[in-house]
Amino acid sequence: MGLAVVVGAGIGGLAAAVGLRRRGWDVVVLERAPQFAPVGAGLTLMANGLAALDAIGVGASVRATVRPLEAMTFRSRGGRVLVRAAMPADAPSCGVHRATLHRLLTDALPDDVVRLGAEVTGVVGGSSPEVTYCSADGSTTTLPANLLVGADGVRSLVRSVLWPEARGPVAVGSTAWRGVTRGPTPLRDAEVSWGPGTEVGLVPLEDGRVYWYVSVTDDRIGSSRQGGAHADASALVDGWYAGVVDAVPGTDPVAVLRTELVHLRPGPAPWARGAVALLGDAAHAMPPYLGQGANQALEDAAVLAAVVAPDDDVPTALAEYDRRRRPRATRVARAAVRAGRTGQMVRSAAAVALRDRAIALAPAGMLTRAMGGVVRWHAPVMPETR
Ligand SMILES: Cc1cc2nc3c(=O)[nH]c(=O)nc-3n(C[C@H](O)[C@H](O)[C@H](O)COP(=O)(O)OP(=O)(O)OC[C@H]3O[C@@H](n4cnc5c(N)ncnc54)[C@H](O)[C@@H]3O)c2cc1C
Repeated sequence: MGLAVVVGAGIGGLAAAVGLRRRGWDVVVLERAPQFAPVGAGLTLMANGLAALDAIGVGASVRATVRPLEAMTFRSRGGRVLVRAAMPADAPSCGVHRATLHRLLTDALPDDVVRLGAEVTGVVGGSSPEVTYCSADGSTTTLPANLLVGADGVRSLVRSVLWPEARGPVAVGSTAWRGVTRGPTPLRDAEVSWGPGTEVGLVPLEDGRVYWYVSVTDDRIGSSRQGGAHADASALVDGWYAGVVDAVPGTDPVAVLRTELVHLRPGPAPWARGAVALLGDAAHAMPPYLGQGANQALEDAAVLAAVVAPDDDVPTALAEYDRRRRPRATRVARAAVRAGRTGQMVRSAAAVALRDRAIALAPAGMLTRAMGGVVRWHAPVMPETR
């Protein structure tokens, strides 16, 4: 039986582990974090991510846990509803806490698959790769693998060692604050609003809590950089409508995350070399403006599992993975960059007001149709081998 070693137990790495096990692989996931943190943020899981979860066999448990969003409501900064776009029934989206999605993915794996506190410090590529990792007790282990998956995020060690020519992450020019709170009023729709150089979103989660994000161009942050994450985020939404002002300052300060946004510029190199593949943010970290980074990582995981079984010629199967994934994820990454330019990055108050007016005049269906090309995706049929 073949051993697949996955570096990184983020959403992408865990989903790949679930899918690969289903194809008959023995799987080890190496994760440097000593434990999965229960704090964190939410994310929007869209129709394509749900289809990928179906393909790897965990769609039913996810769907039983989440609640589909009824609509996406676009508001002005003051709270006026510009348009309420109902979610198409055949392309559902939902808000989910990251910790919930992690749990649902790890529940689908035997206990001994994920090794926490295992920091990968070296990798050897080619058709017989090896991974060296350091455990929490200070011991070092080298593991030969038949398949190595670099799912170790935007600052991937696997990429930097085995793709030395690849450019590293570049700044998006914006910073995001995120938090989860129990809002005073239940939220049914996801809500988005913009101010100059600023985007604010509220997303209802599976348990009635609200996930919020505030994303701001770096030139507008100014002196608010000096406070803690909670104070900064609260200052940035001063003057926003009540739902936002309730959510952001009302969040437990220790649970507010601040992230300087980075992404990878798409390059020409295939995402597979020998028996090594890159997946998720390690391959295609993108700005969050379409809420697609994790959804694309889930697509990667489903396609990887569909194309490579332990008896296959792994390098040939991984070339097929690259052929099926790189053009699609690259298109989505480019669309995310464009969405930032016409959304959060619009800096003048006059241009923001004009855009608000245009959105208010747009037919509701047009806005959800615009996302259709991104979220309508045919998941691969998974050969059943385990
Ligand atoms: C503000 C913001 C909002 C977002 N909103 C959304 C959204 O709504 N929807 C969406 O789909 N996406 C969203 N994203 C993107 C999404 O978070 C990422 O694309 C996704 O989490 C990437 O998952 P991953 O598994 O590829 O990488 P990661 O989540 O980065 O996981 C990588 C893992 O590898 C581990 N690791 C790294 N190096 C090593 C090593 N040397 N040894 C061992 N382990 C290692 C890390 O500890 C980590 O656990 C958002 C991102 C941001 C910043």
